[in-house]
Amino acid sequence: MKHPAIPKRHNLAELSALKGELPVTSQTVSRETPEKPVIGVRRLKEPMKVPPATRVITVANQKGGVGKTTSTVNLAAALAMGGLSVLVIDLDPQGNASTALGVDHHSEGIQGMFEVLVEDKPFSEVLVKVAGFDQLECAPATLDLAGAEIQLVPMVAREHRLRRSLVTLLKERESANQRFDYVLIDCPPSLGLLTLNALVAAQELLIPIQCEYYALEGVTQLLRTLGLVTEHLNENLMLSTVLLTMYDGRTRLAADVAENVRSSFPEAVLNSAIPRSVRISEAPSYGQTVMTYDPLSPGAIAYLEAARELAMRAENQTEEMAR
Ligand code: ADP
Ligand code: MG
Repeated sequence: MKHPAIPKRHNLAELSALKGELPVTSQTVSRETPEKPVIGVRRLKEPMKVPPATRVITVANQKGGVGKTTSTVNLAAALAMGGLSVLVIDLDPQGNASTALGVDHHSEGIQGMFEVLVEDKPFSEVLVKVAGFDQLECAPATLDLAGAEIQLVPMVAREHRLRRSLVTLLKERESANQRFDYVLIDCPPSLGLLTLNALVAAQELLIPIQCEYYALEGVTQLLRTLGLVTEHLNENLMLSTVLLTMYDGRTRLAADVAENVRSSFPEAVLNSAIPRSVRISEAPSYGQTVMTYDPLSPGAIAYLEAARELAMRAENQTEEMAR
């Protein structure tokens, strides 16, 4: 694929001027070269709240194109910029989250979630550090993963495979003093075995809902699946977060949908809604999140606010889970 021209990047001083967030300059490393852009490490001056324990959040909605991948990678990048240690697990064979994080998932010999789920490869061996961030890692998805939906069917404890590998990884990292604060799992647009594995591995479900007419279509089915999972496979799972995406403030429809969603999930919906923004949709073609591609854009600022809100809720979630 031919790469478009290298975009202008803003430094965090500009962002801080607008948003009152000052960069920690000693953390800012510029390693960009004109040919292959590598983004300098960016840290917000005001760190985000460290959760008492690792929060594993599955981002799911069986509808395609609602902003699952976009929300996963941008929330992850924003949390990492807030000083937290974050892992993104790409569980969609399309590998869009890997692409958006600039992680190679096409080349020969790349190992990723297929090997972890189907071949019992240790998680730690497939993790890739995301360029430009010191605490953001990605477990990539290769196209092989499409076959996992079928290959998992006859396996013992097939819904628990991700959970088991992840628990081992989290323990290893804890004992090496390299705890992940957040694990975000990006799901494919279906309720198959990959999504089930993600729901069994997590304590929290985050549903992105696109502010359009059919927004709630399918959410009922997802909630039914959530009910079945909590009943039979993972009693700790709860719907903790709903994020409104592609919100177009100029239309009456978006406002109506948002109101409807807020009244259906009064506790879970984040106050910050993500606006429809061209910069958000451009970023992946540069192998970047919008958080680095254009940190001053309304989309980046909205994801930053959503991430802060998510992090602020850490205490409540963990308390509720302990009960
Ligand atoms: P999903 O993972 O649910 O299939 P994506 O995150 O891939 O959805 O989003 C679908 C498409 O919409 C992508 O092309 C993405 O770039 C675009 N998109 C997502 N969020 C926004 C937004 N807030 N504004 C504009 N485009 C968006
Ligand atoms: Mg996706």
